[in-house]
Amino acid sequence: MKLGEKIQSADWKAEKHVPVIECPDQVEKDKFFQVKVSVGKEIPHPNTTEHHIRWIDVYFQPEGDKFVYQVGHFEFSAHGESAKGANQGPAYTHSEALFSLKVNGPGTLIALSLCNIHGLWENSKAITV
Ligand code: FE
Repeated sequence: MKLGEKIQSADWKAEKHVPVIECPDQVEKDKFFQVKVSVGKEIPHPNTTEHHIRWIDVYFQPEGDKFVYQVGHFEFSAHGESAKGANQGPAYTHSEALFSLKVNGPGTLIALSLCNIHGLWENSKAITV
């Protein structure tokens, strides 16, 4: 068994767990561009104490490179937890993160997300330079 075998994927428009990557299809070399990653864009994912998206990881796989590079890890830490009980807390995070990135060549962005009860999900988006 390998961890990669447990990473699920699907069309994000039909499956609420799939991370969505929003950024330009083409970017300029060494110039920052914005990337938004989210889970639940088309079909909302619940974010409750019992059931929520814990984090989204983003990696860059440069074209022709042997290795993948982590570019961000976004943790969503509040899901209604409270001393009063589950879902009684004052704060809830939504699984969405915006960051900037620059690259020196083409490649693929890969997003990996974790639902606390439905496991790992991935998606990718190619970027040309
Ligand atoms: Fe889930």
